[in-house]
Amino acid sequence: MRLILLGPPGAGKGTQAKLLMDRFAIPQVSTGDMLRAAVKAGSRLGQEAKQYMDRGALVPDAVIIGLVRERLMQPDCGDGYILDGFPRTLAQAEALEKTLAALRTSLDHVLSLEVPTEELVLRIAGRRTCKSCGAMYHVHFSPSHRDGQCDACGGPTYQRDDDQEETVRQRLTVYAEQTAPLISFYEARGLLRRVPGTGEITEIFQRISAALGT
Ligand code: ADP
Ligand code: ADP
Ligand code: ZN
Repeated sequence: MRLILLGPPGAGKGTQAKLLMDRFAIPQVSTGDMLRAAVKAGSRLGQEAKQYMDRGALVPDAVIIGLVRERLMQPDCGDGYILDGFPRTLAQAEALEKTLAALRTSLDHVLSLEVPTEELVLRIAGRRTCKSCGAMYHVHFSPSHRDGQCDACGGPTYQRDDDQEETVRQRLTVYAEQTAPLISFYEARGLLRRVPGTGEITEIFQRISAALGT
């Protein structure tokens, strides 16, 4: 199954991608996670990307497209994958179509997670991530049992640099201008499945499963 999880920052893409990964045994391909790993490693790509990420801007299409193309050719993507946070621009969506055509495959579904803006801001403000295993928490909505410590692996949880309020507003604007047009792009291709993204995490996952027909 080849899926895209589309939605604004804080919509729950990462959270739902992890559940989908377990259900279908396919990898989560998160460009945000890949970029943060590059920043942490201090590679040239990471150093370049950080300048955009810190401002809440998008990393240039050419960089991202190359990154994803390589990732999708890895053997673990052979039976499918969940694209999380990619594509984010029309140019990326068009490049993805070309890559998939070259690989003689196509997308199965594009899930659009719909969440009101006020709730996005609250979610992002309280988001915490495990430094060791990437598990996701929220200080109010889904806290870890011990403050600052991951339930799954005991590693430290942290707040992302770009989750500060001002950067978040910028990212939401960028989403509305550059990414939201992808909704009609995929609707026109008959691939769009709209999923209300509010409520309990498990309830949303059930809606997603229903939208996928599983
Ligand atoms: P969120 O889901 O909260 O928006 P991500 O982890 O997906 O956050 O992305 C964090 C940042 O990484 C983005 O603000 C952007 O700078 C960069 N980024 C991630 N994916 C892409 C992409 N497909 N194209 C351009 N920039 C990206
Ligand atoms: P995205 O990848 O779309 O940016 P995340 O999956 O990182 O979003 O979720 C953003 C924050 O909201 C995280 O702190 C997460 O724990 C929390 N969250 C996710 N789903 C829900 C939900 N249904 N209700 C409340 N909080 C949620
Ligand atoms: Zn952990």
